[in-house]
Amino acid sequence: MDSDSEIAALAGMINEARRAVVFTGAGISTESGIPDFRSPGGIWTQMAPIYFDDFLASEAARRETWRRRFAMEEAFAAAEPNRGHRAVDALVRRGTVASVITQNIDGLHQASGIPPEKVIELHGNTTYATCLDCGTRHELADIRIAFERDDKAPRCRRCHGFVKTATISFGQAMPQGEMRRAEIATLAADLFLVLGSSLVVYPAAGFPELAKRNGAVLAIVNREPTGLDELADLVIHHGIGDTLGAAVGVN
Ligand SMILES: [Zn+2]
Repeated sequence: MDSDSEIAALAGMINEARRAVVFTGAGISTESGIPDFRSPGGIWTQMAPIYFDDFLASEAARRETWRRRFAMEEAFAAAEPNRGHRAVDALVRRGTVASVITQNIDGLHQASGIPPEKVIELHGNTTYATCLDCGTRHELADIRIAFERDDKAPRCRRCHGFVKTATISFGQAMPQGEMRRAEIATLAADLFLVLGSSLVVYPAAGFPELAKRNGAVLAIVNREPTGLDELADLVIHHGIGDTLGAAVGVN
């Protein structure tokens, strides 16, 4: 198919859908300038990841985790939602998309205007931090000031517990509540639209398989081939903003 035919096919699937689910990975955020940490050459392939148990066990590991996080702050702080995020937001507003399941930790779907309760974050969110013991939310700007002054990993102001960005680390269990919500949304979907995920990381990649087995139409937009291209009803190897923006009529 040529590019116009692919976009028309995607638009047709979207127009038929009544309760679509969008599933996003790093590819939608790279179009906003956020690095793809897990890709070849990405940050996590250049530096050994810090596992959750090490974070719990070692002040040095906690300091290094925070040092790395603040080193990435400029990329995160400068990133804004792009055309792909705006197109997804438009589909949520129209009532076509019921939920957005994301592997991204940048909060850009919420920044695009999607209500937070419609965004299911499988890997958490790096734009704020929480206490691992009591759950109190902590803001990164405050943590950074104290960290750069004292060179100590932050502790909770309420209970003195360890404070960590609200992300799922290597070696940390997937969040059960979010996993359950994602499963419920997937089982209710008539169209499951994957945007910018290579679909090789499990358990996340299990959702499009589940949707397809359950009778949903499966569409994938990703620059590179994915692990589930053969299962999908439509695969478009092209940029997300240009493709979905054109299919939805959003600039
Ligand atoms: Zn606490």
